[in-house]
Amino acid sequence: MTRILIAEDEERISAFVAKGLESAGYQTVIVDDGAEALDTALGGDIDLVLLDVGLPTIDGFEVLRSLRGQGSPIPVIMLTARTSTRDTVDGLDAGANDYVAKPFKFDELLARVRSRLREPVSVGSITIAHGDVSLDVLTRRASIGAREIDLSAREFALAEEFLRHAGQVLSREQLLSRVWGLDFDPGSNVVDVYVRYLRAKFGAGRIVTVRGAGYRWQ
Ligand code: CA
Repeated sequence: MTRILIAEDEERISAFVAKGLESAGYQTVIVDDGAEALDTALGGDIDLVLLDVGLPTIDGFEVLRSLRGQGSPIPVIMLTARTSTRDTVDGLDAGANDYVAKPFKFDELLARVRSRLREPVSVGSITIAHGDVSLDVLTRRASIGAREIDLSAREFALAEEFLRHAGQVLSREQLLSRVWGLDFDPGSNVVDVYVRYLRAKFGAGRIVTVRGAGYRWQ
């Protein structure tokens, strides 16, 4: 049976994640401290680690560096409230396989876990399609016709939000809230930047700017 180590010091989050993973058929082990996380991950018998960045005794980045330093190839998905590019780069440099920013939807986390474990998806794929664009939300593959499109996690989440609401205008506030989990405008043009990324990948005409209102996928 696949065992997943959850290293997270917020009990509310570890309990929620463990419950979800167990109902998806995984065994879970919860630790709330970095040193313990490292010991447990190195102890074998763990197939994947969900690793919070902000942990007591040793932070998540250090745990990851030590794991990789000791030659452990175990898949690690970092969980963090920090969403800055700097932290993402640090995490990936330290050897993380993937990165999920809090708050996250459980389904999103589960999709990443499955993809990291490279398990065949037993429940079939869940595909959202509009025209020739399709997104497989379990394997996180995006394609136009038969051509696969390489998307970052955030680009995928934004594309998914658009496709689920194709033809509707989505405001920047709605997108910030649903894709970035922000209930306030951080005063950056992050939505516009990511819309630009998606236009470059899917074609400029697919996302229309609706002046004063937001964006619409068509
Ligand atoms: Ca924490």
